[in-house]
Amino acid sequence: MPVLAVVGGQWGDEGKGKIIDLLAGRAHVVVRAQGGDNAGHTVVNPRGKFALHLVPAGIFNEQTRCLIGPGVALNPEVLLGEMDALAARGVSTDNLVISARAHLVLPYHPMFDHLDEESRGSAAIGTTGRGIGPTYADKVGRVGIVAGDLLHPDRFRAKVKLAVDRKNVQLERVYGKPPINADEIVTTYLGHASRLGRYIAESEPILEQALREGRTILLEGGHGTLLDLDHGTYPYVTSTSCTVGGLLNGAGIGPRHLTTAIGVFKAYQSRVGGGPMPTELVDETGDHIRDVGHEYGTTTGRPRRVGWFDAVAARHSMMVNGFHSIAVTRLDILDDMDEVQVCLGYEIDGQRIDYLPSQIEDLARCRPIYEGMPGWRTSTGDAQDWRDLPKEAQSFVRTIEEGVGAPAGLIGVGQEREKTIFTGALP
Ligand code: GDP
Repeated sequence: MPVLAVVGGQWGDEGKGKIIDLLAGRAHVVVRAQGGDNAGHTVVNPRGKFALHLVPAGIFNEQTRCLIGPGVALNPEVLLGEMDALAARGVSTDNLVISARAHLVLPYHPMFDHLDEESRGSAAIGTTGRGIGPTYADKVGRVGIVAGDLLHPDRFRAKVKLAVDRKNVQLERVYGKPPINADEIVTTYLGHASRLGRYIAESEPILEQALREGRTILLEGGHGTLLDLDHGTYPYVTSTSCTVGGLLNGAGIGPRHLTTAIGVFKAYQSRVGGGPMPTELVDETGDHIRDVGHEYGTTTGRPRRVGWFDAVAARHSMMVNGFHSIAVTRLDILDDMDEVQVCLGYEIDGQRIDYLPSQIEDLARCRPIYEGMPGWRTSTGDAQDWRDLPKEAQSFVRTIEEGVGAPAGLIGVGQEREKTIFTGALP
């Protein structure tokens, strides 16, 4: 009765989508458990290349139920756009289920996201501006509106009116902006509900039945552990918990059901938005990795910050998630490097430390201590087995495994599904 969780071990964009797509073939239920359309996966499979934001990556398998879980912040318009785009390419979304508990992103949430970022000035977080943070802020403030409300027009109308009254006070008095109109929001959202209503359901009985019948459930992570609200580089974090524990909670599955937690790590790392990253490369090597790896934001086109693999940060991830096994993705991006490096410690105030300081002011002062290794200078793209990898690439992966403290069960050597080596270390 396996329950698998696939979680990003770094700052996101680790290539979780590919690993999830690979494992989704065996899953009866795939659950997106947290975050909103501020996260996204790129999936390349025999049906083509797809950018998914809210729809779980199990959607390509018609037998798989794809659940948008209680912990998700759901923008109905974005979801409908994604469903239409999938339908236009012949991918059915009939197996989609939206938890009635998922909180709705309303039009005022992106507005407040932008206003809040503006007011932070140079300390802006670098959010995607999709309104996800303000949606969760309303959830925590107990004034959120959930997907289930869309099934009850009167209830929905009353809740939107109340919320808009409160938002207008803030808009006018704090930000000096014109008020928004509740009726327009209600009309638009009830229009969305006429299409989405049949997908909205109580998700608990679905998961309970799947667990009772011993079905495989895959929990699909968004973002990465170092962006976790509790355990990441606060305040440069996302507004949910994106660890294994956060996924279980966001889906609504008790921890004792978890059988396998897989952490996804790039062979190097990248970060979007602000906040410290000790191994950041602001030199030609960084530019080179960025270009070979096409490390540019999918929606914004912004260059991502790139750096060497940081085993100190990775161990922190390992600790808070308890991964059974890791996936090392994008090994191929380093194929032509003369030398590769892994950060095994930090130096701060003349002392060596091997943990991730909790305060970003301290993390920003940490200097990486690297172990350098010769590169392999040959293509790994055709490797199908551990033994096909050059010995330099093998030692590099071994250094990462030792640094993280977990075996690499999967190694990614290209974008496509089949460009994945299963080492046998996957439980
Ligand atoms: P996610 O949010 O963690 O799923 O990350 P993205 O969707 O941003 O994935 C990063 C990109 O890396 C996508 O375009 C993937 O197709 C691609 N990718 C994943 N694994 C590999 C790999 O092993 N090698 C290469 N070259 N690309 C990969």
